[in-house]
Amino acid sequence: MGGDMPTRKTSDDQPKRSFFCNACGKKVRMPRGWSTGSASRRHYWAKHPEIMRGKGAEGR
Ligand SMILES: [Zn+2]
Repeated sequence: MGGDMPTRKTSDDQPKRSFFCNACGKKVRMPRGWSTGSASRRHYWAKHPEIMRGKGAEGR
């Protein structure tokens, strides 16, 4: 799936409010005031609990 990213070239000087998940490659939104780590953890717990539990990529 998806190399479907709009190329928006805007020079906004706002801080990053989203990042791309290393596990699923999806864009993850960061709530305001959150650090990347916190938002990342939250996403991982929600979408990739196995990884958070330390089960490694070779699930079964
Ligand atoms: Zn993910």
